[in-house]
Amino acid sequence: MKNISILGATGSIGTQALEVIEANPGLYKVTSLTAQSNADLLIAQALKFKPLMVVIGDENKYQSVKAALASTGIKVLAGEDALCEAASLAETDLVLTAIVGSVGLKPTIAAIKAKKDIGLANKETLVVAGDLITDLAKEHGVKIIPVDSEHSAIFQCLVGEAFNTIEKIYLTASGGPFRGKERDFLANVTKVEALKHPNWVMGAKITIDSASLMNKGLEVIEAKWLFDLDVEQIDVIVHPQSIVHSLVQFNDGSMKAQMGLPDMKLPIHYAFAYPDRISSSFKRFNFMDYPELTFSQADRSTFRNLDLAFEALRRAGNMPCIINAANEVVVNAFLQNQIGFLEMSDIIEQCMSDISFIAKPTLNNYLETDELTRIFAGELVTK
Ligand code: NDP
Ligand code: MG
Repeated sequence: MKNISILGATGSIGTQALEVIEANPGLYKVTSLTAQSNADLLIAQALKFKPLMVVIGDENKYQSVKAALASTGIKVLAGEDALCEAASLAETDLVLTAIVGSVGLKPTIAAIKAKKDIGLANKETLVVAGDLITDLAKEHGVKIIPVDSEHSAIFQCLVGEAFNTIEKIYLTASGGPFRGKERDFLANVTKVEALKHPNWVMGAKITIDSASLMNKGLEVIEAKWLFDLDVEQIDVIVHPQSIVHSLVQFNDGSMKAQMGLPDMKLPIHYAFAYPDRISSSFKRFNFMDYPELTFSQADRSTFRNLDLAFEALRRAGNMPCIINAANEVVVNAFLQNQIGFLEMSDIIEQCMSDISFIAKPTLNNYLETDELTRIFAGELVTK
């Protein structure tokens, strides 16, 4: 029995993780669940999975959650600091970080310091402070098991291999809903169009990131830290069918790929079961449904975010933190109809050139950079 804590239980990854747990009775026990504002779903999940603790981020909802769970003995907490408590419960073996955004940084640090293995969906944490997080995980003997489908693919390809035999990795990208479109077209796209991902149903933020290719940019940075790679060892290839989840090329020229239907429950299940592989009844891939698997170059001049992310990784220091914070602000602004699709990259680029560069940031430097960038990007949005 593995004890699992789910940060961001009410989101796309969180709810699918609970489906995986439900489908495997006797294998997993839920120790804590957290949500930001969806109190009703959090309460329903708590009544069903009976964790030791739940945390609601929005303090205004605390009383209603507490009242609904009063007779259960489940501890109810509220607010951002309580997330760290939910992440470091003594009873927990693995923390699934399924919160969206850099707000996941502090609870992930708390979980690592409490020696909990991490099932990492919250890629923004590794983008913001990948050096600190990976060092901390080494120091505390904590495993970081990726949940992001591309990184789970690479992780699976690397079982039994040495990291120093990796020549290169290829992260596959579906290309999102605007694959093949020109800048003229993108200038006028709406959030409704951007929220229609061809292959995956996900939370709003990552869906916009997928449409703008920032998701792939963030994943390049995530891969750097998970697999200890140089930027030159990471490439992106567009694969619209989302069947090959990513590939590793080794130093003898051999390549391994991991394939499967696009279903996040697969990498979630893998991360929960690791180092085992446990049988599932998920729908199986049928070659006849996919007579063609195709691959092409990403259009980086139209989708500039991908280049900006590579540049942030090359410049290192707090630059990935800047790009992440600016991106969180612009995605939110785009979702509120405050800016157009192409303006997102413009504002991110402006932040990269104007926010002070720090070559060797401390945790405080990262937190300050995140805050300063949000303020500056917010000003650019209102301008
Ligand atoms: P969702 O938006 O669907 O869910 C986010 C979760 O985090 C919800 O439980 C939400 O609570 C909670 N949350 C939101 N804001 C805060 C906050 N400020 N403080 C604490 N909790 C908060 O996101 P996804 O599930 O799509 O994505 C989660 C993470 O996983 C992201 O980092 C994403 O990049 C990554 N990921 C997602 C994939 C997917 O298929 N969805 C695939 C690969 C990676 P509430 O519901 O109450 O708002
Ligand atoms: Mg992914």
